[in-house]
Amino acid sequence: MSAELKLLLASPRSLCAGVERAINTVESVLADYGPPIYVRKQIVHNTHVVRELCHRGVVFVEELDEVPHGAVVVFSAHGVSPQVRADAASRGLRVIDATCPLVTKVHSEAKRYAAQGKTIIFIGHAGHEETEGTLGEAPEHTKLVQTVQDVAELAVPDPANVVYLTQTTLAVDETADIIAALRTRFPDAVGPGHSDICYATTNRQNAVQAVAVQSDVVLVVGSPNSSNSVRMVEAVRRRGVPAYLIDDVTCIDSRWLEGAATVGISAGASAPARLVDQVVAHLTEHGAVTVLEQSVTSETMQFALPWQARTRHVDPTSESAAQ
Ligand code: SF4
Repeated sequence: MSAELKLLLASPRSLCAGVERAINTVESVLADYGPPIYVRKQIVHNTHVVRELCHRGVVFVEELDEVPHGAVVVFSAHGVSPQVRADAASRGLRVIDATCPLVTKVHSEAKRYAAQGKTIIFIGHAGHEETEGTLGEAPEHTKLVQTVQDVAELAVPDPANVVYLTQTTLAVDETADIIAALRTRFPDAVGPGHSDICYATTNRQNAVQAVAVQSDVVLVVGSPNSSNSVRMVEAVRRRGVPAYLIDDVTCIDSRWLEGAATVGISAGASAPARLVDQVVAHLTEHGAVTVLEQSVTSETMQFALPWQARTRHVDPTSESAAQ
């Protein structure tokens, strides 16, 4: 490691409004009902968040048949298909939905377009929970594409009656290429402007790329199944800068930093800020370090808790509670 190491912290980084809401929802439900409570899938894609909630009595399940009849179950930030909602109802489960409102918005668009008889082209990653949930809104109307090549091979009943939607956590530049290919093949295609990629994904990709061009190597804190974190690493590598995804400070291989004068650091939208703090503290302990923050924008987005979690938290002394 260089003796005069400089750390460049990309901003914005770490938790987005949707992830904070999802974690706060589980904590609120845990406080209200007491353990155990159940969460379908990982509430957010971060190993540390999930492990800590497990220790506090949250039981993460893959499917609802693992949840006892009548129990409380939280749906994760990534959203679920109508089939999963129906399944929960048939099992008598008490559902609290922590789906990010920006994912819910895409679901609503899928339902609206399907009702209009349009073919929906969904740009997303096969197998990702968000993709499965959105595709489930109108499976008979929706076709998944993942690449420009997929667009070339796409067959639709009426090329003049096509719309497109996207997963919220995709790479901004790759998605733009796919949308350009779609618009070339289907000039009448209607879509959400640039894409449905959310503000947090966009900002974190812009910020980490701004840092990358000044760095010898970039570390992105996030778990391997975090789509937006993986996209950040890929975005940096596409600029020719080595980048590594690390779940936490213990994953750092000192050989990555050999000869580096500037290390860029960021974190995906599901990685808590304290994990970044630990990385900075570790690197600070191992050399003379300057730490600089580089911001491309500020974020003010906040989402209210789901109503099921909110209504149990009305302040009993407030006016509205007295009415
Ligand atoms: Fe919502 Fe975007 Fe955060 Fe996903 S990354 S939870 S879509 S704000």
